[in-house]
Amino acid sequence: MSKGKIGVSTQDLFPIIKKFLYSDHEIFLRELVSNAVDATQKLKTLASSGVFKGSLENLQVRVKADKEAGTLTISDQGIGMTSEEVEKYINQIAFSGAEEFIKQYKDSGNAIIGHFGLGFYSAFMVSGKVEIFTRSYKDDAKGVHWTCDGTTEYEMEEFDKAGRGTDVVLHLTKEDLEFADEEKIQSLLKKYCRFLPVEVICGKEKEWKDGAYKDTEKDLVVNQTRPAWTRKPSELKEEDYEGFYHDLYPMAPDPLFHIHLNVDYPFTLTGILYFPKISSRLELQKNKIQLYCNQVYVTDTVEGIVPEYLTLLHGVIDSPDIPLNVSRSYLQSDRNVKKISSHITKKVADSLLDLFKDKRSEFEGKWDDLKIFVQYGILTDEKFAERAMEFYLFKNVDGKYSSLEEYKKAISEKQTDKDKKIVFLYASHAENEYSYIQAAKAKGYDVLVMDGTFDTPFVNYMEQKNPDFRFIRVDSDVTDRLIVKEDARQSSLALQEQNELRGIFNAHLPKDGGMYAVSFENMGEEADPVVVTRSEFMRRMKDMAEINPEMGFYGKMGDQFSLVVNADHRLVKEILQKEKAELGGQIAPILVERAGLQKQKDDIEALNKDVKPEDVPASDKDRISDLDRQLNDLGKKERELLEKYGAADQVAGQLVDLALLGNGLLKGESLHRFLRRSVDLIR
Ligand code: ADP
Repeated sequence: MSKGKIGVSTQDLFPIIKKFLYSDHEIFLRELVSNAVDATQKLKTLASSGVFKGSLENLQVRVKADKEAGTLTISDQGIGMTSEEVEKYINQIAFSGAEEFIKQYKDSGNAIIGHFGLGFYSAFMVSGKVEIFTRSYKDDAKGVHWTCDGTTEYEMEEFDKAGRGTDVVLHLTKEDLEFADEEKIQSLLKKYCRFLPVEVICGKEKEWKDGAYKDTEKDLVVNQTRPAWTRKPSELKEEDYEGFYHDLYPMAPDPLFHIHLNVDYPFTLTGILYFPKISSRLELQKNKIQLYCNQVYVTDTVEGIVPEYLTLLHGVIDSPDIPLNVSRSYLQSDRNVKKISSHITKKVADSLLDLFKDKRSEFEGKWDDLKIFVQYGILTDEKFAERAMEFYLFKNVDGKYSSLEEYKKAISEKQTDKDKKIVFLYASHAENEYSYIQAAKAKGYDVLVMDGTFDTPFVNYMEQKNPDFRFIRVDSDVTDRLIVKEDARQSSLALQEQNELRGIFNAHLPKDGGMYAVSFENMGEEADPVVVTRSEFMRRMKDMAEINPEMGFYGKMGDQFSLVVNADHRLVKEILQKEKAELGGQIAPILVERAGLQKQKDDIEALNKDVKPEDVPASDKDRISDLDRQLNDLGKKERELLEKYGAADQVAGQLVDLALLGNGLLKGESLHRFLRRSVDLIR
């Protein structure tokens, strides 16, 4: 028997280990099982190089929880250790890195710190005493028994061990007795050791017998030793990829498609990424990708390792080249991580492009589901965006898909405006915007569907990147003005006529639910008499506010609508004629009086044309403000007359309400009034 001091100066190392790994102290199991797996793998390597000539049977790692004894034992039949090796690896070496490490990171709570560095000593996170029973694979090796009770002192003695390999026995502390529970250990092994390359056994398989689950004779193997990502793509069929996906996410629907990552230079990276099928925005979940290091589970937080938008994907990434014991902010500046991240981006873009080029109809079939990922990528990753424009698909209201190039070609002839901009028309609720879509189609325009979560920011992005594109929703203006091909024509209505019609229509505008402004347009006799449009700018701002809380200001603002009256329509002409006939007598004297007052005002202003404002005589100033007041009063009188008259004009009211109804804007009392009026008009 020999006694000694563990080769490290820091007296309080163990308390620190316990403290700073406290939050994640179950990882001790991963550390010890990985060591056992490593020792087994090393033996296999020695066998393949001919150094080890013995049998390679039964190389499993066994984990045994003993509730009564309060112990947990991890056993392997790997290379084992000689007493010199225990001295070297356990007593000395294991700490050389760890000490530095702890000094540096003792205040950081990062859970992955400690991974691959503390290794074996993490056993003390849960144990009062740890024993190692080991015997090297070497022919003449003797068994060694090592004990340490969590101080920096250990005991070591020769021990008669039957077979090759290592048993690590943890004597759990009172607080950690949960780790002597087999089921608990099984569930932890499933989390951390599920894909380790050597079989890990814990307990027995169970079967349903006599009304209860009973142990069978068969060992329970908790892991898959050759998970799909470690195999060659050529060995795998589509079912294998899907099967593996469902192993990872048992409840999820089939994925859209997968990307098998396999790089060995200049860094090592394997893995499979899946594009999940998402049916609603609520299901968009980050951090479903699991990160492994040589098949050992590390974390499911891959932020900083894969580009932000790809954290929405599912699957597995395995790389020994990702430094795990550093902070996240450091990770992002790590050269390997940067390379890995841009490799993944490239690979994802390549795969999508291949699908687009080689299997266009399959790609189109998946596009509606893929779109959200692609848009998110375009919006957040410049590099990805450049490549994605090759395969991004625009879908029109008839369900036809086109790439940007194809679409531009198809619409540029009819949809280029007077400023040479290509106008992309779109609908965000094809149902609600039905009549606008029909009107646009009748003019030979094409209308896209833009009803996704990121469509508004995407449209903004596209306009920013392409100054010669404009995106306009079909209902944001009357069809004729959606794509302005020549400078505006003069309205056929005289100003005074517009004034009178405006007064009449104003009487029928909704009193709440947004701001309305009446305007006039010559849209032709066949077009609708009144059309409601919604400002593209305000609507987009409000849409953006919904996904971006910083723009909440716009969210609170009311909607802005235009009530566009078609001056060419017979009914509008009739409303005006009727008003002229019935109200003309009362309006005419107002106009005469107004003309007189205006003349007086103009004369005074003409007199003072070259006089500095401060030198205009006080009497003139008084006179002008008096004239203004009178003009104002006249205007008010005219408006009141028109409003009163207008309110009684059933046809105008009906036209306004029909336009509102067509946009789903007629509600509550207004809807009720409309229904009553409709019945009256039929009678
Ligand atoms: P790491 O595994 O990161 O090297 P550890 O502290 O876990 O650090 O282990 C230190 C060394 O002890 C290992 O590199 C290995 O040489 C040896 N060792 C640990 N566990 C075993 C085992 N089960 N069988 C053989 N050697 C082991």
